[in-house]
Formats: sequence, C-alpha cells, structure tokens
Amino acid sequence: MLRPTLLDLDRQELAEYLAKRGEPDFRTEQIWRSVYRDLLASYTKITTLPRVLREALTRDLPFDPLQPIDRIVSADGLTRKVLFRLVDDEAIEAVLMSYERRRTVCVSTQVGCPITCAFCATGKSGFVRNLTAGEIVGQTLHFARWLREKDERLTNVVYMGMGEPFLNYEAMMKSIRILNDHEGFSLAARGFTVSTVGIIQGIKRFMEEDLQVNLAVSLHAGSDELRNKLVPSNHSYPLAKLIHACRSYIERTHRRITFEVALIDGVNDSSKQAREIAVLLSGLLCHVNLIPLNPIPDSSFRPSSRERTEAFANVLEKMGIPVTVRVRRGTKIQAGCGQLRARSQRN
Ligand code: SAH
Repeated sequence: MLRPTLLDLDRQELAEYLAKRGEPDFRTEQIWRSVYRDLLASYTKITTLPRVLREALTRDLPFDPLQPIDRIVSADGLTRKVLFRLVDDEAIEAVLMSYERRRTVCVSTQVGCPITCAFCATGKSGFVRNLTAGEIVGQTLHFARWLREKDERLTNVVYMGMGEPFLNYEAMMKSIRILNDHEGFSLAARGFTVSTVGIIQGIKRFMEEDLQVNLAVSLHAGSDELRNKLVPSNHSYPLAKLIHACRSYIERTHRRITFEVALIDGVNDSSKQAREIAVLLSGLLCHVNLIPLNPIPDSSFRPSSRERTEAFANVLEKMGIPVTVRVRRGTKIQAGCGQLRARSQRN
C-alpha cells in the first residue's frame, strides 16, 4: 500500500485527519485554501501554520506524491509535457495544451494500461498499477501552479493520458471531486472530460454521478470485426452493448457523448468505414472527434492523409453526425499517449 499524501484526502477526510491530531477546526480551511486556492506547493510555504505543525505534517502526511523529472515543450510553447516520478519509482506523464482560451491538462490514471490497443504506446509497456487520487490531483496542480505564475488559469482537465480511467474508477472520481470542491480549486464540473475505451460498468456508474462531467468514448471503428483488432476490450464489450450503454447514459444525463476516432491510414479511414460509424451512431446525442494518429515506434500504422480525413468527416456530416477534426498537437514532442515514458525507459 502507498502511504496517503495530503493530495489523496478530500476536504472531509482532511478535517477528520486534523481533528484526530487535536488541531482546531479552522486548520482544515487554512490548509485546503493554501493548497487549492493559493496553489502553494509544500507545507513549508504555508507560513500561516505553526512551524511544529508544518514539521509534523511533513513527516506524517507527505504533501505531494509526484516529482517532475523531465519536460518537453513544443517549439511554439503551446504544449508542455511533463514526466513525473512516483514514490515507488514508477513514472507517468501529463500534458498541458493551450488552445485559444482553453488551458487543458491531460492526466494519466494508471501506470501503463491493461487494454493494449493496437496503436497506443502506453499499452506496449504493460500494466503496473492504478494511480491514487492524489497522484491524479498532483498532475493537475503541477500545471495549475505553473499557469498561475503567468496569471493564467486552468480551464479543463481531460482524463486521456496513460491508462483506462474506468478501471480506476474510485480514484478517478475522487480526483474530480477534490478538484471540483467549491471551497478549493473549484474547477467547474463541465471542465472535466473522462475518456473510456468503453468499459460498460464504468459508463453505467458514471451516469449516476451527480456531477455534470463530460464523457468521451474511444470508438475507432464501427464494426466489431475491426474494433476487435484495434481495441481488444471490444471482445468483452462489443459495439451493440457499448452503444446500448451510451444510449442509456444520454437518456439519463441528457449529455452529449464525444466519440473519438484515431484515423489510421488504410485501416479504419475508408468512406465505407465512415458510413458504418454514422449508422451506428445515428439518433444519438453525440459528436465525433477525428484524431489523426500519432505514429508510435515499432508500428506500421501511419496517420491518414488530410484528404482522407476530410473525406471521412464529410461522410459523417452528410449522414447527420456532427464531427470535428482535432488539431494535431504534441506529435513533435512525443506527447502521444505513453510516448515520453517510453523514451525515458529507452534512455
Ligand atoms: N483509456 C482511455 C483514455 C486514454 S487514451 C481511452 O481509451 O479512451 C486517450 C485517447 O487517445 C483514446 O481515444 C485513445 O484511443 C487515443 N490514442 C491512443 N494512442 C493514440 C495514438 N497513437 N494516436 C492517436 N490517438 C491515440
């Protein structure tokens, strides 16, 4: 078991922890605000706390479970990727993307990933363990503090880094609640997007949450035959069942689902394949995001050309499915899923 850190506790748990130590009630708010409003990065910086308490907490409840160890910044400065070392010497990555007025951090939820999608770098390195809520919160805070120095604010957190969020449901959801807390970081629920490969129990659980968070589903293909090859979990959660769960989600929440499709040259990017997806999604309150593939080492998969991507988008649009082609970001800085960690392991 990993030792809990301050970032693993929600406000209630922090209050209980401090009460057990005999601290007065106001300490909870003092610490919570210092961490999540003032974005202070260590107990030492919370100078309003008595020195003995700072020292005791440093010893008993480590502040932050992450240590940034590597960083790559794109030439235009708009994408920053950071590799963090965890207390057990594992490593994870998170990326900050600046696009127009949005400041979006993409966080990891697991070390590695058990799903092994054919085109994904994370799966290639196997699955190690789930992240704790504190390790997820810490990724977001790291970039929030960095933005604060430039008088900017984080606007979105997307759970699209390494790992499958719905296989680490509790910690994923706890991290959202901690960051959404109105006395603290207070990031609006609509600013969060959780992306799943299509774990049906996760979708069912997620629709019962009382928060207006967004759901994205990694689709990649509109037939089971092809999706089985690209996304192995499709064997357990085939398309008919997945779409059924998505329909229930939409009925229950009235929220639009984003379906992600990474276009791979000659594999899933034909007009026929676009039609299959359009038929599958017809009548659903949804949106399709076309992502040009990020090429990964030791893989023959190549991104689709601009023309094929446009043609694919046109088919969807003509068949009534709203679609956007996502701007390709971060490929130059190996910001594709799992790529920085892979690089550090090779070195
Ligand atoms: N496991 C979750 C979230 C992490 S992956 C999921 O599958 O949704 C986030 C998104 O990046 C997914 O849509 C995933 O399919 C996509 N992705 C993974 N590797 C990619 C690559 N090399 N190029 C483009 N998209 C990729």
